[in-house]
Amino acid sequence: MSEPEEGTTCFLCGDPAKCQKTDGHNRRLYDCSSQSCGEYEISLAAKERLKNPTDKAKVSAEVHCIKNQDPDKILVITVDPKTHDLDFKVVPRSEVYARISHP
Ligand SMILES: [Zn+2]
Repeated sequence: MSEPEEGTTCFLCGDPAKCQKTDGHNRRLYDCSSQSCGEYEISLAAKERLKNPTDKAKVSAEVHCIKNQDPDKILVITVDPKTHDLDFKVVPRSEVYARISHP
C-alpha cells in the first residue's frame, strides 16, 4: 500500500514537511517547515476526523503557539476512543520521539 504525498507535505497547512511513522505506524510525526506551523503528532483516526480546512488552520495555529511557548513540547492529536471527539495533548518531545517506528 503506497501513501503518496504523505511524506512531503504538512497535513495541517500543506507546506513542505518531514513525516515519520510513530506508535506502530498508527500515528504520524510531522515537522512542518512553515514559520506559522510546527511539529506535531497525529493519529490516522484523527486525520480522518480533521478534514475541515478551518479546523486544520486552528490546530496549525495551536501547534505554532506551543512551539513558541516551549520548544521541547509537541501537540499530539488523537481521537478519544469513548467520545470519538478529537483529543489534544501537549507532551514532551522526547515522549513522541521514543515511539518513532523504524522500518
Ligand atoms: Zn504545517
